[in-house]
Amino acid sequence: MSVEVVVLLCCDYHMHTFRCGDASGTYEEYVAKALEQGLKEIGFSGHSPQYFLPKDMRRRESAIPEEELELYVREVETLREKYEGSIVIRLGLEVDFVPGHDKELEKLVFSYPWDYLLLSVHYLNDWPFDHPKYIARYSEWDINELFATYYQVLRRGIETGFFDAVAHLDLPKKFGFRPTREIPELEEVLTSCVKYGVAVELNTAGWRRPAQEAYPSLSILQRARDFGLSVCVGSDAHRPEEVGRYFKEAEEFLRKAGFTSVIRFVQRKKIPVLLEGNPLCE
Ligand code: ZN
Ligand code: FE
Ligand code: FE
Repeated sequence: MSVEVVVLLCCDYHMHTFRCGDASGTYEEYVAKALEQGLKEIGFSGHSPQYFLPKDMRRRESAIPEEELELYVREVETLREKYEGSIVIRLGLEVDFVPGHDKELEKLVFSYPWDYLLLSVHYLNDWPFDHPKYIARYSEWDINELFATYYQVLRRGIETGFFDAVAHLDLPKKFGFRPTREIPELEEVLTSCVKYGVAVELNTAGWRRPAQEAYPSLSILQRARDFGLSVCVGSDAHRPEEVGRYFKEAEEFLRKAGFTSVIRFVQRKKIPVLLEGNPLCE
């Protein structure tokens, strides 16, 4: 006899839209899928404009163009009003962190009424290492060194104090490359999260990548729990059908890691929600 798993996770905080050139589907289609999945709360987290690149090198393929950011904010706010009473919609942004551009970053952070900001490191210098097109460049690295360098950059991002959660914390494993020893810089990342009150995102997209495992791994998630960090959940949907995907697996992952709650974001504040008997998810 099969036992039905009841999914209590009900907030998906990592969703893209057509405003970023790498995602498809209308806002309405994402919301419809979320409702179908029984989600009670969602957050859009479009890719931030590429403030760290010279203007002529910024590409719609991987980010919301700067001149459309205001439009994105207004679209999400309009949607929020439209669906009031049936689903809660939060305004987020997945911010690419590249060191050395704090002024531009600060402007981005304080220009709009974000509910939350996800910190993402997708670039090491000029290398967008999570992009399949540039996968050959992994061969230029010692993989342990790569992870160590990545975590150093991530820590610098956390220490700006601008962010609410770290997205896909162990992203360099995306294509299946994994460290072969302990990476002490990971400890420093978690320590910084404690110090700056930054949550860790459980990102289910890893399950649909060659890594075949959520970001972060169960062992990192367990360590995050040991550090007393809070966790939010996101599917990193780039298409409407990906909304809420692998949430059953995510819930199991969280329980195995010892988490009894997840967090919601409201105007840059974290609100914990118990997984068990979650009133949001009746
Ligand atoms: Zn994307
Ligand atoms: Fe990302
Ligand atoms: Fe994303």
